[in-house]
Amino acid sequence: MSSCNLTIVVPVYNEQENISVFIEAIKVELASIYQHLDILFVNDGSTDNTVNMISAEIVVNDNISLIDLARNFGKEAAMTAGLKHARGDAVVIMDVDLQDPPAIILEFFRLWRTGEYDTVYGVRVDRSADTVMKRCTAGGFYKLFNMLSHRTKLPENTGDFRLINRKVIDALNQMPERNRFMKGMFAWTAFRAIGVPFERPERNLGCTKFNYWSLWNFALDGILSFTSWPLRVWSYIGFGISFFAFLYASHILIDTLFLGIKVPGYASIMSVILFLGGVQLISLGVIGEYIGRIFTEIKQRPIYLIDKVTGQYQRQDTPNE
Ligand code: UDP
Ligand code: MG
Repeated sequence: MSSCNLTIVVPVYNEQENISVFIEAIKVELASIYQHLDILFVNDGSTDNTVNMISAEIVVNDNISLIDLARNFGKEAAMTAGLKHARGDAVVIMDVDLQDPPAIILEFFRLWRTGEYDTVYGVRVDRSADTVMKRCTAGGFYKLFNMLSHRTKLPENTGDFRLINRKVIDALNQMPERNRFMKGMFAWTAFRAIGVPFERPERNLGCTKFNYWSLWNFALDGILSFTSWPLRVWSYIGFGISFFAFLYASHILIDTLFLGIKVPGYASIMSVILFLGGVQLISLGVIGEYIGRIFTEIKQRPIYLIDKVTGQYQRQDTPNE
């Protein structure tokens, strides 16, 4: 392997207090490979001083660049923009809040340079920085996802923090979908991968950009983009219910034939109607979730819009969207 340039892609959304601390940490912790690095920030529609902070750094560092998105498109879209433009032979995706420790990148880099791995991902061994609720819901999500999705398996306790080589970057850049669940897409590429354990510290400054509602929607996106099982399960539930309905109808028929017509039945009729009404609404809702996503896909809108590109990436040809 002759070339070994590494682009660090960093999506940022309202992170003004973290920019200079982050760059300083990269310089100090990655001093031994710093000459191989360039840092590509993707500003995801920040409304604070983030862009000015990055622009000030670009003036004094010629290996820092910025893709400024037109508005907030979400972290998945911001990462997509970064991957599309990154020029390194490999890319490391990491958060700016130092929850992904820069020192681990040395190990990522070493493993990549052995030439045996296409992906080197960080595995969180200690999630004590997360709340109990977050740990339980995340754990449950990975289990459910891996149960439902037959081909794509997500490694547990793995975020977006990883190194991917050109082969994986090119594969991801070929994936046109609008509903982008990147953790699943990384796993889908399924090239040779290895995990590196690390302890995840608490966020440096500022607060998390994801609340439980956005995490729930994110989890739904993940499951619905990688399996059609929730759509198909209703046929089986329907068969099950029909089978019991047939048994119950036979029971009523025999009862009526031998014991005559009994008028009471309000409770059972009501329960059956309400139960079936609920089941039908849930199944319609699942179909709706898929149709909503098909609608988003079929419009074929761009995944993100770029306002401007600055730094190193502006000076040379930047591929247009
Ligand atoms: N982020 C982003 N767009 C968003 C939300 C977050 O680019 O809409 C960035 C954010 O600036 C940070 C990274 O994604 O660099 C991870 O966000 P955060 O630390 O809030 O997530 P958590 O660590 O709580 O999962
Ligand atoms: Mg964080």
